[in-house]
Amino acid sequence: MSKSPTAKYHPETRLVHSGILRSQFAETSEALFLTQGYVYDTAELCEARFKGEDPGFIYSRYSNPTVSMFEQRMAELEGAEAARATATGMAAVTTAMLAPLKAGDHVVASKQLFGSCRYVVEDLLPRYGIQSTLVDGLDLDQWRKAMRPNTKTCFLESPTNPTLDVLDIGAIAEIAHQAGARLVVDNVFATPIWQSPLALGADVVVYSATKHIDGQGRTLGGVILSSNAFVQEHLQTFLRQTGPSISPFNAWVLLKGLETLGVRVRQQTESAAAIAEALASHPKISRLIYPGRSDHPQAATVKKQMRAGSTLIGFEVKGGKAAAFRVLNALKLARISNNLGDAKSLVTHPATTTHQRLAPEVRAELGIGEGFIRYSTGLEHKDDLIEDLTAALETA
Ligand SMILES: *Cc1c(COP(=O)(O)O)cnc(C)c1O
Repeated sequence: MSKSPTAKYHPETRLVHSGILRSQFAETSEALFLTQGYVYDTAELCEARFKGEDPGFIYSRYSNPTVSMFEQRMAELEGAEAARATATGMAAVTTAMLAPLKAGDHVVASKQLFGSCRYVVEDLLPRYGIQSTLVDGLDLDQWRKAMRPNTKTCFLESPTNPTLDVLDIGAIAEIAHQAGARLVVDNVFATPIWQSPLALGADVVVYSATKHIDGQGRTLGGVILSSNAFVQEHLQTFLRQTGPSISPFNAWVLLKGLETLGVRVRQQTESAAAIAEALASHPKISRLIYPGRSDHPQAATVKKQMRAGSTLIGFEVKGGKAAAFRVLNALKLARISNNLGDAKSLVTHPATTTHQRLAPEVRAELGIGEGFIRYSTGLEHKDDLIEDLTAALETA
């Protein structure tokens, strides 16, 4: 995949041109190959394809031209040798975790995880004999101490959902590699525009393409990026035989989403920084977390590994759940939702939604207070968003 003619261009150019498989009709826009299967001119050709001697397509559970275009564009953007798309972000996470492991293996993960990711590590894997240890992802000593001879995979997300902690990917990759383990990074919050975990030492990157990559609230999707060897050795057969495949239609939506990913994420980040600045000294807020600010607790790590802040902001409203709910209910532009990365600004109360499954003391330990709000900045004008938020905060 790295031999692509578009690989030499800047990311913005690759987002528009990489991976195109133009049909005999020479269409400008990427074609949507909404087909389950393919026909063969001869039985001999069919046989050759099944033997892997002819490189064409066989069945859309394994591969499809539209899905391939999306995978190739993602791989070039991320600087990965290979990519495999999945139906959802959770299918990507579950496959990346489960496919290479077997009973008796051990996983170490940061406890600061998206709720479903935490379920996979904490509840699902142990049911199949894969033990897991959760550590405070910010504490490198905890990572070191958790490593065992049978540790095969380390897993983290950074910035974390929803508290926007920034974990040192390079340092954790080094700890993992010293123990003979691989590092899998969920890069959803950073987006491929602002952070490249493979270049920092990670072995596998996963995305929920549902978020910024679609960015317009339409389809679910996921993608796993890694070396060719990891795909061949661990992913290919697992995906082919278990079938968490993405619909070609959804892959097409995501492919077109990639064309505007750069401009959207840049604009949303610029607006998020302005909103964070406007909220920083607001009397109704006890805590503001924004990875682009010098007062972020891991500002040095942000500077080391991210090209810019984030489209997301976290803040704690004084007065707990009642005050947070009043603010959410008073917002007119930003809508209450559990999604993020959308063109529309979206607000979430993690304690009662994405992280309600966790015990109150676990939430407290993670810094998810009853007044905590996650704000996903959309494409509206920043002044309108600031006005909307400051008016709503009056009700807190
Ligand atoms: C949303 C999300 C996921 C899951 O993605 P889906 O597409 O909803 O399955 C995984 N990780 C993070 C960090 C997310 O925000």
